[in-house]
Amino acid sequence: MKKILMSLFPLGLLAVIGFWALDCAGAPPGNMFRDASGLLLAFGRLAGILAAAGILAQLLLVSRAKWLEPLFGLDRLTKAHHVMGLAIPLALVSHPVLITLHHARQADLPFLAQYKAVLGWEDAPAALAGAFLVIIAVIMSLPAVRRRLNYEIWHTSHLFLYAGLGLAVGHQLELGGDINGNPYFAWTWYALYLFALANLAWGRVLNPLRLYRRHRFVVNKILPETTEVESIWITGREMASLPAQAGQFALLRFWAPGFKAQAHPFSISKAPDGRRLRFTIKKLGDFTTRVHHSLRPGAPVLIDGPHGVFTEKKCLGDKALLIAGGIGITPIRSLAERLQAAGKHSVLLYSNCAQKDIVFRQELAELERNGGFSAHHVLSAEPDWQGEKGYVDAGLIKRLVPDFAERDAFLCGPPPMTSSVKAALLGLGVAESRIHFEIFAL
Ligand SMILES: Cc1cc2nc3c(=O)[nH]c(=O)nc-3n(C[C@H](O)[C@H](O)[C@H](O)COP(=O)(O)OP(=O)(O)OC[C@H]3O[C@@H](n4cnc5c(N)ncnc54)[C@H](O)[C@@H]3O)c2cc1C
Repeated sequence: MKKILMSLFPLGLLAVIGFWALDCAGAPPGNMFRDASGLLLAFGRLAGILAAAGILAQLLLVSRAKWLEPLFGLDRLTKAHHVMGLAIPLALVSHPVLITLHHARQADLPFLAQYKAVLGWEDAPAALAGAFLVIIAVIMSLPAVRRRLNYEIWHTSHLFLYAGLGLAVGHQLELGGDINGNPYFAWTWYALYLFALANLAWGRVLNPLRLYRRHRFVVNKILPETTEVESIWITGREMASLPAQAGQFALLRFWAPGFKAQAHPFSISKAPDGRRLRFTIKKLGDFTTRVHHSLRPGAPVLIDGPHGVFTEKKCLGDKALLIAGGIGITPIRSLAERLQAAGKHSVLLYSNCAQKDIVFRQELAELERNGGFSAHHVLSAEPDWQGEKGYVDAGLIKRLVPDFAERDAFLCGPPPMTSSVKAALLGLGVAESRIHFEIFAL
C-alpha cells in the first residue's frame, strides 16, 4: 500500500509531463518543438507545470503523511523540503520570462512592452502576486536570513506559500493552455492537487484531532529533572493502542492559555508502557520557558505523531553505541531502555558541560544496575570531575568502546556535536548505514 501511495505523485507528474509533450507536439497552433519561438512557449509552460508540481511536492514532504514519513524520517523529508524549496523560484521566474519572450517574438514587441500586455491577461496579476509571495517565503528560508529570524515569524511566513498557491490556481485554470486543451491533463492535474492537499490536511490537522478525540491526552504530572529541564507526563484513554516507540518524537500543542498557537517537537524520553508518555523539555527559548513557568497538570494536549525512525528497529545487530549531548539524551534514554528490554547490549557516551547538566543521572545508573548497559559521562567544563573530561571524539570512542565496529551507532545532540561525532565514526571506518542520528531541528 505504501509503495502504491509513494508512486501516485511521481506517476501523476509523469502523466502531466506526457500530456504537456503531446499537447506541445500536436495541439493548435502546431508543433511547438519545431522552431525557437515555439520552444520558448513549450518550455515556458513546462516551467509553470514544474513550479506548481514542485510546490505540491513541497506540501507532501511536510504533510507528515504516515505512508511517507516512516520510510525516510521527518528530518530527512524536511531537509529535502528545504533543498527543493530553493529550486522552485527558478521555475517560477522562468515561466513568465519564457512565455513573454515567445509572445514578444510573435508580436515583434520589446520584452517589457510584451510583459505589460501579458499582465493584462485574466488572472496574470494574481499569479504574479502568488509567485512573489512564494519567492518571499523562500528568501526567508535561506539559511543566512532564517538564522536572524524568530522561529515563529519564519514559520508564519510559510503561510505565504498557501496564499501564493491559491493565487496561482485561477491562473492555471484560466490560462494554462495544456489544462484548457486536454481534459485528461486537467483531471490528472486536479488529482495531484487533491492528493497533496488531502495528505496535508490529514497529516497536519485532521489526524491530530482524531487522535485527541480517541485518546483525550492530558498533562498528568510535571517533574523537575535539573534546574533547566523538566519532564511532562501525558496520559489518556486507550494509550496502549497509540503506536509510540522509544526514540520517536511528537509535536505537542498544549491546549491551555498562552500555548494553543504553537506546536513544538519533543522526543519520547521513556520507553512507552501503554499507559503514559513522557517528554523531557529543556528551557531554551520563549515556548520552552513558558512550559516551565506556566504549564499545569490537567492541560489537554494535541499530539501530532509519534514520528521518526530513530528507533530500535535501526539496530540490526545485537549491540549499540549511544552518543548523546545535553538534552539530546531524551530519545537516547528511551532507546537505551528499549534495547535493554530487547536483550541488546548498549554503551552510552553522554556529553555535558558539568554535572548539574546531566539529565536522568539516577535513571541511567539504574539501567546500568539492570545489566547490558553502561554509561560514561563526559564533561567539558568541570575541572574537578574525576571521570572522562573533554568531548566525545575518535580517541575517546576507541578507548571506551573498543568493539565500536560491531555496534550500530545512535547519535543525538547539538548539530555541531552530531556532525563531528559522525565524522569521527566515519573516520574510524564505521559504515554510514550503521550511523543513525536525530536532529533537533525541523
Ligand atoms: C525531532 C525533534 C525532537 C526534539 N526533542 C526535544 C526534546 O526531547 N527535548 C527538548 O528540550 N527539545 C527537543 N527538541 C527541540 C525543541 O523542539 C526546541 O527546543 C523548542 O521547539 C524550542 O522552542 P522555543 O520557542 O522555546 O525556542 P526558540 O528560541 O523559539 O527556538 C529555538 C530553536 O528550536 C527550533 N524550534 C523552535 N520552535 C520550533 C517548532 N515549533 N518546531 C520545530 N522546531 C522548532 C528552531 O530550530 C529554533 O531555532 C526537539 C526538536 C526536534 C526537531
